[in-house]
Amino acid sequence: MHYISTRGTAPPVDFVTACLAGLAPDGGLYVPARWPQISPARAGESYIEVASRVLSAFAGDALDPATVEALCARAYGTFAHHSVAPLVQAGPNHFILELHHGPTLAFKDVAMQFIAQLYDHALSQQGQRMSVVCATSGDTGGAAAAAFAGASAVDLFILHPHDRVSPVQRLFMTTTGADNIHNFAIDSDFDACQAMVKAMFADRDFAGRVGLSGVNSINWARIAAQSVYYATAQAALGGDRPLRFIVPSGNMGDALAGYVAARCGLLAGFEAVCAVNENRALETLFATGKMSRGASLATPSPAMDITVPSNFERILFEAAGRDGEQVATLYDTYARTGAAEIPASVRGSLGCMGLSARAVSNAATLAEMARYVAETGGLICPHTAVGTCVARHLPDTGAVNVTLSTAHAAKFPETVSEATGQAVALPARCAGLRDREEVFTRFGPDLAAVRDAILAVRTGA
Ligand SMILES: *Cc1c(COP(=O)(O)O)cnc(C)c1O
Repeated sequence: MHYISTRGTAPPVDFVTACLAGLAPDGGLYVPARWPQISPARAGESYIEVASRVLSAFAGDALDPATVEALCARAYGTFAHHSVAPLVQAGPNHFILELHHGPTLAFKDVAMQFIAQLYDHALSQQGQRMSVVCATSGDTGGAAAAAFAGASAVDLFILHPHDRVSPVQRLFMTTTGADNIHNFAIDSDFDACQAMVKAMFADRDFAGRVGLSGVNSINWARIAAQSVYYATAQAALGGDRPLRFIVPSGNMGDALAGYVAARCGLLAGFEAVCAVNENRALETLFATGKMSRGASLATPSPAMDITVPSNFERILFEAAGRDGEQVATLYDTYARTGAAEIPASVRGSLGCMGLSARAVSNAATLAEMARYVAETGGLICPHTAVGTCVARHLPDTGAVNVTLSTAHAAKFPETVSEATGQAVALPARCAGLRDREEVFTRFGPDLAAVRDAILAVRTGA
C-alpha cells in the first residue's frame, strides 16, 4: 500500500512514513495510491476488531496485522464505553453517533489514541525519537497530551493561546503529570500559535535537529482511524440501509473519513452533510466553488472556527480525477492571492461525491441545545448541536440520519448553561481533573524563545 501526494510530485511512501511525515514534501497531503477494498463491519464484531481490519488494510505491508491489532487494543481500551462509538436514538429516523467517550471527552481522542500508539511503536522500532509539535485552540492539545503521556519515543510540545481556551480544555493538557508533555501558553491567539508551528517546520535545520513531526488534522493516520466508526455505525444500523451522516465540521477531517470509508466499501452508499457554524467557508465552497482567506469569527462552537478547511484538498484531488498538477496550481494561486476558484469541470464531479455543507447561526445553535434537551432529556455540546440543527432541517429522503456527536457537553459547561439553564458535571472518570497540579510555561509571541525551549528539552540542557 503506497501513499501519494495530492500535489503530484512527492515520491510515493508507505503508511508509516506518510503518518510520521504529516505533510508531503511537495506541500500536498498523502492519500492511498488506490483505495483498498475492505469488507464491511459485521453486526457483533467489536470496535477493536473492525479497527484492526480497517487500519491493517491502510497499513499494507508497513505493519503486520498482529501489530496493528495490539496498537488498536491499547488505543481503544482507554475508552469509557465498551462500544467506543455507541449510537443513541434522538428521534424517529435520527441517531447520534457518540464519539466523546475517550479520555478527553472529544472525538479527537479516537484518532489521537491510535496515532500515539503508532508513533511510539514505529519510532521505537527505528530507534528514533521525535518532537511532536501542535498548536491547539482547545481539543486537539488535550487529546494529544492524554494520548502521548508517557510515550517512550516522543516529546510532545503543545502551544495554546494563553487565557483563550476553556478551563476544562486547559486542564486536560496541563495535568497529565507526564514529563514528556510540554505545555507552552502563548500570549497571543490561536493563529499566532499556528504560525509559530509552521515557521518551525519551514526551518529545515531546526526541524531536522529536533526530529519535528505534526499530528494536526491532515495527518493520514487521523483520517484512517476515523473511518472506522462509520463502518461500525453502518453495521449497527443494518448493513444495507442507506445512512445520511451529518458531520459537525471544521477542517473536514471527520467528513472526509466518511468519504474514505465509502470508497473502501465499508458503507452501503454515501451521503454526508458537513454542518458548519457562522464560519461558512465550506458552505461557500460547495455552493460557489470559491475559496477565500479571511479572519475567523468566534462562535459558541470554537473547534469549528475555521476558514480554510485543510482536508478539502483531498476531496478536491478526487474531484479533479487525481490530477495533482491541477490541485497544486489551485493552491498556489490561493497561497499567492488569498483566493481561488475551483474550475467548472471539477465542480461538476464535486457535486457527485455525496458531500454538501450547511451553515447554522450562533442563535440557532443555542436554541437547538435547548430544544434537544426538551425533546430527549439529553444535553449536547454546541458542536453537536450545529449537527442536530442541520439534521432537523434536511429533506426526508428515506435515509436514516446519523449525527456525529463530536464532544461531551461537559467540555463546554458555560455554553450549555447559557443555552439550557442547566449545569453539566464532568463524568466521574474525570472528576479529579480540577484537583491536579497544572504544569505549563508562559511565553510571549516569541518564536526564538519557544524554539530554544524545545532544543533545551531535546538536548537535555
Ligand atoms: C475538531 C472538532 C470538530 C471539527 O472536526 P474536523 O475534522 O476538523 O472537521 C468538531 N467538533 C469538535 C468538538 C472538535 O473538537
